[in-house]
Amino acid sequence: MHATQNTNKAWQVKDRADVGEVHVLPLGDTSEHAERRDCACLPRVEKPTNPNDKTLIVHYSFDGREAFEYAEGAYYVRHKRDA
Ligand SMILES: [Zn+2]
Repeated sequence: MHATQNTNKAWQVKDRADVGEVHVLPLGDTSEHAERRDCACLPRVEKPTNPNDKTLIVHYSFDGREAFEYAEGAYYVRHKRDA
């Protein structure tokens, strides 16, 4: 994974422990995102194989930036918290 530093195209991982979801959100997007799986961007919902794990909600940017690399990072965050 490349350590790209593009402050205008940053992504944020928000751990919503209260609803058992981890949201990957684009920062400073052209439209607001709701931290819900029915967000207007129609985020990708990845159910965990382990029922004790959190559901990963990967939002799609409205401005077209790519999320693939960060999605991998989110997986890493998720698995790290299994311990
Ligand atoms: Zn969204």
